[in-house]
Amino acid sequence: MKVPWTDLGAGYRSLKERIDEVALDVLASGSYVLGQQKAAFESEFTAWLGQGETLHAVGVGSGTDAIYLILKALGIGPGDEVITASHTAVNTALAISKAGAIPVLVDIDPETYCIDPALVEAACTGRTRALMPVHLYGHPADMEPLLELAGRRGLNVIEDCAQSHGALYKGRMTGTIGSAACYSFYPTKNLGACGDGGAVVTADAGLAARVLSFSNCGQGAERYLNVVKGEVSRLDEVQAAILRVKLGALDQLNEQRRRVAAFYADALGEVAREGGLVLPVEREWGRHVYHLYVIRSDRRDALREHLAVRGVETLVHYPVPVHLQPAYAGEMAGVTLPETERAAAEVLSLPLFPEITEEQLAYVAESVLAFF
Ligand SMILES: *Cc1c(COP(=O)(O)O)cnc(C)c1O
Repeated sequence: MKVPWTDLGAGYRSLKERIDEVALDVLASGSYVLGQQKAAFESEFTAWLGQGETLHAVGVGSGTDAIYLILKALGIGPGDEVITASHTAVNTALAISKAGAIPVLVDIDPETYCIDPALVEAACTGRTRALMPVHLYGHPADMEPLLELAGRRGLNVIEDCAQSHGALYKGRMTGTIGSAACYSFYPTKNLGACGDGGAVVTADAGLAARVLSFSNCGQGAERYLNVVKGEVSRLDEVQAAILRVKLGALDQLNEQRRRVAAFYADALGEVAREGGLVLPVEREWGRHVYHLYVIRSDRRDALREHLAVRGVETLVHYPVPVHLQPAYAGEMAGVTLPETERAAAEVLSLPLFPEITEEQLAYVAESVLAFF
C-alpha cells in the first residue's frame, strides 16, 4: 500500500461540482480582481470567525503578504524588532524581514511547539514593536501571558494563523485575540485555495483600511490617487469563489482531521506510554485543528526511512529552524535555541488529510508500530 502525506486532489474531488461551477462562473463573469467574490468571501470569513459585526478581513495574495501588510500598516519597519518563534515556516520571518524589521527569535514550549511565553519578556528591548505568536501545527499558542506582556509594554500582538483556521484558545477563535492576524490559503492549509491566497483579519477598521490600500498599489479612497507606495497583493476572484465553497465545508473538514488525530492517538498510545515516541498534546486551553499530526522520536530519521520503505510518505516541519537558515546566517550568528533545535531533529509529520481512509490510517499506524 502507498499512503501519501496529503492528497489535494481528493480534497478537490470531494467538492468538485461546486468548485467547477463557481470557478467557471467567475471566468464567464469577466470580473477577475477586486470583485464581488473577494468581498463576499471577506464577510463570510469574519462571520465564520464568529464576529461578522466587529471584525474586518482583507483578502490578499498570500499568508506571507498578509504578515508583511499588517507590519506596513502598523508602521513597523527598519530598526523595529518583532518577536516570534524560530520553529515555524520560514515565511513568518521572511515577512518581517521584507518589512525591513528585525525578527527576534525565541525558543518554544517543547510540548505545544509554540513560542514559550516565559522567554518572551527577556527578548524585549526598547525597539520591540510586536509579538508574533504562531499557532503551529493547528495548536493555539498560550496567548494570555503574551497579551499581558504586550499590554504592559504597549506592543502589538499579531497572530500567525496560517496553520490554525478554526483552532480555539480558551473558547475564542485564534485570529480574533490579538491586534491583527494573518491567514494563509496555500493549498495544503486547513482552508486551502487552488493557488496562493491569504487574508488579514483585524477588529481595527483603520488598520484594515490601510492594509487594503497598501495591498492595492497604495491607492486611497479616490481611484488612481496614490497615498502611499503600495504593493499589488490581492486575493483574486477565482480563488475567492473557491474559498467560499471550501469555507462552507471547513468545520466538517476540521472534524475529520480531529478524527484522524484521535485514531493515531489511540493506535500509537501504548508505544508512546512506553517512552519510544511522543504524540501531540492538546493543552486544556485549546482546541487543536491538526493542520499537521506531528510525532517525535530521537530515532526520527530511521523511523522516516522505515516508513518510506513501506510506502508511507512523511515530511519534517521543519528540519532547519529560521535562525540556522543560510539566508539568515549573518544576522543570526550566535543564536542558539535548544528546544527548537531538538524539535527540528526529532519531529515527523504523519499522513493527515480529511479524506484519508481507515485502511490507510491502520496501515500507517501498523507501520509505525512495526518500527518500535
Ligand atoms: C504557510 C505559512 C505562512 C505563509 O503563507 P503563504 O500563503 O504560503 O505565504 C506563514 N506562516 C506559517 C506558520 C505558515 O505555515
